[in-house]
Amino acid sequence: MNIDKYNEAIMNCRFCFMCRHLSAIGNVRFTEVDTPRIRAAMLYGLRTGTNSFDDEDFVDALYRQDLSACCVHHCVNHYDENGLALAARADVVEAGKAPEAVKKLAAKFVKSVGWKAEGTGDIAWFLDETTAADKAVVAATKKLFAAAKVSPKVIPGGSIGKALKVLGFLPEAKAAAEQFAAFLKAEGVKTLLVSNPAAASALKQDYPEFGVKLPCEVKCVAGFVVQSKVKFAKAAGEVYALADDFLRNYLGCGCMDKLLAAVKAVNKPFGTNDEETYCCGEGAIVLDKLHPELVKKLAEYVAARADDPKKDKIVVASAYTKRVLVKYGKLNVRFLPVT
Ligand code: SF4
Repeated sequence: MNIDKYNEAIMNCRFCFMCRHLSAIGNVRFTEVDTPRIRAAMLYGLRTGTNSFDDEDFVDALYRQDLSACCVHHCVNHYDENGLALAARADVVEAGKAPEAVKKLAAKFVKSVGWKAEGTGDIAWFLDETTAADKAVVAATKKLFAAAKVSPKVIPGGSIGKALKVLGFLPEAKAAAEQFAAFLKAEGVKTLLVSNPAAASALKQDYPEFGVKLPCEVKCVAGFVVQSKVKFAKAAGEVYALADDFLRNYLGCGCMDKLLAAVKAVNKPFGTNDEETYCCGEGAIVLDKLHPELVKKLAEYVAARADDPKKDKIVVASAYTKRVLVKYGKLNVRFLPVT
């Protein structure tokens, strides 16, 4: 089983409650089942035969995890309870026990695989569907490219495999990755810029895991802007930059901090601690499709921690987090500190 690769997490997390406060879903449902300890205990039970994927409540718990990877990031031993959860979903799918809603979503992503290229050159910008849906983010990113004096070829299109991997559909995710890598090769792309941290994680982490080689270097837009030494006319002022699930917990990327420094932003501490996630299920990619009611609760939880919800300038690194914090949290949210 896929979960066998995460034996350390199963054996250790099932007795540990140290990171329960970092379980975003547990924090809004007030349920122990939504913590790494209980998920690990349930997966241990799967191996010993006292639990089974026939139990719909068990499978539902696996599919409502926020997958922020905060727990593994802050765990003193870095036991990969997040990787365990993803592996468990793959096992659910392999066992033919994926819930109908999950299967429907996965089929939609398989169908969406496909891209086109607009423009010329060997620098390209992957305009994922989540980012493309936010016209303000698209316009601001184009302004940044102009300031950096680049005019990348734009590659809009569908799934590159991340959502499929997160839903547990590994062969389909790998097939999407292979197709995207072949597309980039055919287009002669040497540098690929990505706005969505989830796409960066897919390209930098999932693709090597699948054994898929990319023909290009991958850079996040924030890092590219810093490297390009774009000059900004005025300082960004006081902001509350929320640590991004993928950039901080998955990729260990410090681009956002560098960008904040480059624009002379005064980054104020948000909430009661800087450990937990405020990204409302960004790591789970499609949590707002499977469980909008939970994403609403997550956004309200974040909003309740803002000093002045209407005025505080909240800065995030993903269009997903911006969308749900604006929609459900009614917060004043910016994509990157320069938009
Ligand atoms: S990830 Fe670390 S802190 Fe969290 S339950 Fe597992 S062992 Fe404990």
